[in-house]
Amino acid sequence: MSERVETGLGVELGGINEFCALVNKESRARGWWEPMDNVLGGLVPDVREELFMPTVDAFTTQKIMLIVCELGEAVEAMRQDIYGLERKDTFEDELADALLRLFDLIGERGIDIEKQMAWKINYNRTREHMHGKSF
Ligand SMILES: [Mg+2]
Repeated sequence: MSERVETGLGVELGGINEFCALVNKESRARGWWEPMDNVLGGLVPDVREELFMPTVDAFTTQKIMLIVCELGEAVEAMRQDIYGLERKDTFEDELADALLRLFDLIGERGIDIEKQMAWKINYNRTREHMHGKSF
């Protein structure tokens, strides 16, 4: 059980890190990380150390772009007025795809996202209105 993380919003975060780990476990069971594992496992020892992180970074970039693709699909569903729960290719379904891919990546990297989100919420409170931007 994860500890509760104070956000400063009157609610505490808890369980998101565990959920990300579970989503990653499910994703791994379905083979979504096999391409990266196969490349990393195929590196000869002479170059493994040199190419390990660049390889992880390249696959991470691919994962991030797939999240962006899911968000694009959400926009497209919205443009076509396709909404609804428990149906494929709806606005809600594409948002779920994007979040699941994001949670998978967070779980894979072992990021304490609860801690980071709480820190960011509080940091953002110190910034100027709309962070000085027009939108
Ligand atoms: Mg999708």
